[in-house]
Order: sequence, then structure tokens, then C-alpha cells
Amino acid sequence: MSNLKYLKEEWKAVFSCMGCGDCGYAIRPAVGRYLTCPVKEAKGEEGFEIYFARGRMNVLKSLLEGKIPLSKELAEWVYQCSECGNCAEVCHMSQNPYIVLPTCNWIDHVKVWDALRKDLVEAGFAPLDKHGDLIEFMDNDKKKNPYGEERNLKFEWIKEFPEIKDQGELMFFGGCTMPLRQVDTLRSMMKILKVTGKEIAMTKEEWCCGSIALRIGDKKSLTDIIKHNITEFEKKGTKTLFTACAGCYRTWKKDYPELLGKALPFKVKHITEFLIDLLNNNEILFKAEEGEKLKVTYHDPCHLGRHMDLYEIPREVLSKIPGIELIEMKRNRKNAWCCGAGGGVKSQFPDLALEISKERIREALETGADILTTSCPFCIGNLKDAYKEMAPDIQEKIKLIDIIDLIASKI
Ligand code: SF4
Ligand code: SF4
Repeated sequence: MSNLKYLKEEWKAVFSCMGCGDCGYAIRPAVGRYLTCPVKEAKGEEGFEIYFARGRMNVLKSLLEGKIPLSKELAEWVYQCSECGNCAEVCHMSQNPYIVLPTCNWIDHVKVWDALRKDLVEAGFAPLDKHGDLIEFMDNDKKKNPYGEERNLKFEWIKEFPEIKDQGELMFFGGCTMPLRQVDTLRSMMKILKVTGKEIAMTKEEWCCGSIALRIGDKKSLTDIIKHNITEFEKKGTKTLFTACAGCYRTWKKDYPELLGKALPFKVKHITEFLIDLLNNNEILFKAEEGEKLKVTYHDPCHLGRHMDLYEIPREVLSKIPGIELIEMKRNRKNAWCCGAGGGVKSQFPDLALEISKERIREALETGADILTTSCPFCIGNLKDAYKEMAPDIQEKIKLIDIIDLIASKI
């Protein structure tokens, strides 16, 4: 049996949980905070205690005290968490400068959940079935993507754009979801770039960034992936790498340097950081606007917001698009409701992912916005699936559009 190697490293965080329950029940309208754990809420009656952070921490305490063992059943429960990080935000919020508690300000909940996942994998109780398939596809030399598609398929769209070079200072990392599932958004990106005259390059040797393996806790192939991807982009003369996927962005910008123990040899940007520079330099010329303003609401992807603190730049991008009025959802920025797809939930527990997503769509509807936008293909995919299960008129009432497509529709 595993010796809980990784969880033991987090023991201080686990035992710092004082059981206040804010991560399950705190509602503080005065500071814009409404409920915390999407999994607990989506589970309804069944979602009592064990599905939100306090219950999770109690189980982890029991594991560390040797009262319960790791098991397959435990793994089934552990992975029903989207690692959205909302529990960390509310827990830290309970800090009061006048009350000195040696606790919440340094519990990194997602790091704790990740540690247990790694122990479950080492002990052989994970990956769960569907997660195992994704990792196998990602490692397979003929695929190198978690969707199990042929490797070359990811680069088919590039044939339409001979202007994309195969090396250069500004390199685009396509990732897997957009080129394999939302290729029209890449066409929109190229439309924007054409207007600006910016040249980008791509390499057909990029592999999946490995985000899925990281979130599942399966570290086996990560060293190879990281080494391969960094070497490949270095070889191409990269000075700035940008990506349109929130998951790839977190992996490149946070996980790679942490795992390597040093900074990357080039800058990493999310596409919204790249777009804001173009917009600030007036390099994107928009069509003249007529008629009423479109009301748009923005969904913060967890991997962009809470995980990477990128809240304002996507909003600044939206504010620069003519004919648009941004209306916030009740839960936004640090308190944004997760789309439900992250942490491996979408693949292993699709119904749970959809329930969470439907709640986010209902919240978007409440704003009266015409468009729900975001900047992550993984969120878009899950929200799109949830739309299909909701009343048909909802799709009429509020359209789901990636921020890139929104810009492209205005030029
Ligand atoms: S808010 Fe923090 S300290 Fe309170 S129960 Fe949740 S994890 Fe524990
Ligand atoms: S990370 Fe998100 S889904 Fe997981 S326990 Fe915390 S609030 Fe719930």
C-alpha cells in the first residue's frame, strides 16, 4: 500500500482546516460571494459534507491518521471534484487581520487534492477507467492527444493558412481541444491576425501539454512531454508562446516551470493577453457599429481565473470591442461558478459536469445578456453539451461564443 507520500507533504494544510464549513455554506452578498462548491450543489441531497472541502479534509485527516486506507471506492469519490479552487478562495477569505489563525491563508486546496490523486495513482487505485484511456491516447505515438484522434488531424486546419510559418519568434501552441473540436475558432483567430498583419508560427511536433495527466495525478509520462515540448519550441526560435486554451496556459505557465524548477526560456501568454496588446495598439480594425449594443456576459474559466489570476484582461478585451456591453453574472471573478468540466470530471462523470454547467448557463440567463462568452475551449465544449440538454429556447435567448469568434464577427 502507498505510504501517502504526496499527501504527507501537505499534512499541515490538511490539519489546518478548522472545520468552519465556509467552503460549503458561506453566502456573503455584501462581498459578492454566493455558495462555493459546484460539486456539492450539483449533487443535491446526496452532496452533503463529503463532496465539499470540509468533508474532504476530514477524510484526508483520517487517511493521514491511518484510520482508513486508500481504495478504489475512495478514488471514485476523490475525482468528483473539478479542482475549481473556489473552496480555496472562500477559505482564504475567512482571514481576518484582527484574528490570528495559523490556518487558512496558506491552505492550497487544489494542491492538496492533487497530492491525494498522485498517491491514488501510485497505489494503483487510479487512474479511473476513462482517465486511463485519456492518458493512454495522450502517450500513444500515433495520437499524442487525449481525444484519441490521429496525430495529424490536429494540424489539418493549418493547410488552409499557408501564411503560418513553421518557426518564428511568435509561436502558437494549438493544444488539442480547439484544433480537434472547435476548429472554426482557429479560423476566427486567423481572420483577426490577417487584419493585424501579425505573423505566427506553429510546429506540427507539439504534443498534448499534459494537463490531463497533471490533474489526474499520473506523472509517468510528464517528464518526456515537458522535455519534448520545450525543446521543440526552443528549436523553433520561440520568444513568445501563446495559446487559446486556459488549461494549456496554466500547464505551460505554472506547471512546467514548477516541475522543472526553473523558468522557461520564453514567455508564455494566453490569447487574451496577446489580443489586448493588439487592441491597445489599435491594430484590430472593427466594422462600424450600428444599432443597439449587444449585452455580453463573461464566464471566468477556473484555469484562467482562480488558478492564474487572469480576471481583468479578458474583460478589458471585451470592453474594447465596439457595440458590446459587459454585464457580470452574480458569481464572477474569484467567486465564478465553475463550468464543471475540469479535474477530469467531464470524462469520468459527464452527468455531473453537465449539471454544473447548466447552473452556470441559468446564471448567465439571469443577467439578460444576449451572449455568454468565455476564453477556454474546454469550458465552451462543456457548456455547449449542457445547452443541448436544456430547453431549445435557451439557445435562442443566450448564445455561447468564444471571445475570439466574438472579435472576428466584428471585423
Ligand atoms: S473554509 Fe477552509 S478551514 Fe473552513 S472548513 Fe473549509 S477548508 Fe476547512
Ligand atoms: S475544488 Fe471546487 S469542486 Fe473541488 S471541493 Fe473545492 S469548490 Fe468543490
